[in-house]
Amino acid sequence: MILEKLRPNGLWEPAGLGLCYQRIGDYELKLIQQNTSPQAAVAKLRLSTLIHSIGWTIDETNVQMIDAEHLTMQERHMKEMEFRQEVALTWPCTNPECATPLTAFDHEKAVWIFEGKNEQRLPNSDQVEMVEHWTVQITCPVCDTVVAMEPYDFGLLAGDDSLLHYQVQNGEVKYMALNRYEIIDLIDNRASDNLIIVGTFCQFTGEMLPPHVRGSVVLFSPSSEEE
Ligand SMILES: [Zn+2]
Repeated sequence: MILEKLRPNGLWEPAGLGLCYQRIGDYELKLIQQNTSPQAAVAKLRLSTLIHSIGWTIDETNVQMIDAEHLTMQERHMKEMEFRQEVALTWPCTNPECATPLTAFDHEKAVWIFEGKNEQRLPNSDQVEMVEHWTVQITCPVCDTVVAMEPYDFGLLAGDDSLLHYQVQNGEVKYMALNRYEIIDLIDNRASDNLIIVGTFCQFTGEMLPPHVRGSVVLFSPSSEEE
């Protein structure tokens, strides 16, 4: 059930409906944003019935109405991303007695876990594709609780730059992805012997690398060797 998987303060935005819910309790959602379109109003009623039928409640007071009609696709996307990032700043440690914000966790020590492959139906087609499922684990600096997140949520929380750094699971090797200017500079100056292009597996430990790391030009360094 999708609602039970939501983290505390996590967002639920059913695709294309113009509605945004936030989990505010064990079995409670809050509708925080709604598009002004008639479709969103209809969808709200339908979802409300559905959500109540499984024993959850919804707080529908103080909904922020969004008039997205006059925005371009890009402006709409920017606004959505800003909003999601603001919300990510409020996510707490999953230990209810702790409540340290996830922003205070060490994101560079994130551990990526391959959870297996899931079947996923391609949009507008009958074809099914096997998609890798990964989770990202970060550890609370206060209570040591390990919090598992979807990669998308981790990106929101830690920012795009966090995806440039990667360390293999036992912490033995760290990678730093380079942009083309950094690569050119290093090659022209013969400045490093630690430049490699990574494929699906780490060439030092053999472990599978998450999709965003593959195909990158990286500088590797043994973890103990801090720069
Ligand atoms: Zn904690």
